[in-house]
Amino acid sequence: MNELSVPRPNSLDAFWMPFSDNKYFKGTPRMLARAEGMHYYTPEGREILDGTAGLWCCNAGHGRVEIVQAIQKQAAIMDFAPTFQLGHPIAFEAASRIAEITPEGVDRVFFTNSGSESADTALKIALAYHKARGESSRVRLIGRERGYHGVGFGGMSVGGIGPNRKQFGALLPYVDHLPHTHLPAKNAFAKGEPQHGAELADALENLVALHGAETIAAVMVEPVAGSTGVLVPPVGYLKRLRELCDKHGILLIFDEVITGFGRLGTNFGAERLGVTPDIMTMAKGLTNAAVPMGAVAVKNGVYDTIVNGMPAGIEFFHGYTYSGHPLAAAAAIATLELHKTEDLPGRARAMEPYWEDAMHSLKSAPNVIDIRNFGLIGGIELSSRPGKPGARAMDVFRRCFDKGVLVRVTADIVALSPPLIVENAHVDRLVGTLDEAIRAEA
Ligand code: PLP
Repeated sequence: MNELSVPRPNSLDAFWMPFSDNKYFKGTPRMLARAEGMHYYTPEGREILDGTAGLWCCNAGHGRVEIVQAIQKQAAIMDFAPTFQLGHPIAFEAASRIAEITPEGVDRVFFTNSGSESADTALKIALAYHKARGESSRVRLIGRERGYHGVGFGGMSVGGIGPNRKQFGALLPYVDHLPHTHLPAKNAFAKGEPQHGAELADALENLVALHGAETIAAVMVEPVAGSTGVLVPPVGYLKRLRELCDKHGILLIFDEVITGFGRLGTNFGAERLGVTPDIMTMAKGLTNAAVPMGAVAVKNGVYDTIVNGMPAGIEFFHGYTYSGHPLAAAAAIATLELHKTEDLPGRARAMEPYWEDAMHSLKSAPNVIDIRNFGLIGGIELSSRPGKPGARAMDVFRRCFDKGVLVRVTADIVALSPPLIVENAHVDRLVGTLDEAIRAEA
């Protein structure tokens, strides 16, 4: 491919990059200029195989013409319209399409613009639900260590990531956490769901004993924790959590921001894991990331309780200017059409055994201390360089990029989540390049 005609910034100073080592990047920039199918292209025209579907979001592959055309068409018809006390048809259509693939009875959909907004919206729905039922004492929110629910104050507080507390100090009060489910001593190199650890869900009983069930509104967990290093739930863990929530009148929220839209070989993680939450968040794959959009789907009873339980007027005092934005709704409808016609969950399911073998073929590479996989997700954990946590994986990331393969790292874990249209040859190239890079950084 020839050099692309993309604008060249004169300066990299103004853009304060998110979740980035700004100083390093601006000294050694790695730019992406174009994307198509399974690949990105640099401004110089170098091809980069996408091992991460962008940021776990371009499940149908890049530059899908059906989505591009839907966005273009909608931009010309109506650029924006509010959804506060007004409506436009395609926002309703997008919600109905989502409800077609959510678990049965989880059919009411609130639109947001991101995973973070979805997390905070879900938590507010849980609080509003208990309030509408007359249980105003239920204000406590339970998350899990190593949970990631975005960067809003709600999601950040319920999430269980140390650096948030280090940099931002005290977060929301009335929050507590379950232990994480990472048990390498028992589960290292497990394939799919690990066998050990279902009993970790029983820690919810301890939190109930400590705080009182009458103070707890909701438990929020990711079906598979992605951003903190691909933590697959132990067999039976989520079922146990569901039972305990039911026992104590606590709502169960699944953060399906990365596990939704086919990633685990089913529409949502809930289906794959056989557990239906009361509330589920989503974003990313909803529009194939072509336009930002998130959503929260709730059980019909949760919606009915809030909407019928409140006096006439605005029942849920929450919303975003861009909730149900026409361009995002158009992108979502086109994406969900591809999801169905191309059976993206089915493709992921068919690829999973090959993917699993490929992931575990890295076991013999130096410094690999664990490998985890589920659906089309993979996590390769490396031992840290003494005194330099995260450095080895970051060097692997940079080396892979220079060799034309995009991977993602979190601490010393390489996290992989290719577009669901990935084929065997892509998997071979991804794993071959990763193998070389891990060996080179030994
Ligand atoms: N929840 C989960 C499980 C995520 O993985 C992410 C992002 O990776 C988020 C929430 C936040 O989404 P966003 O970056 O769109 O706000």
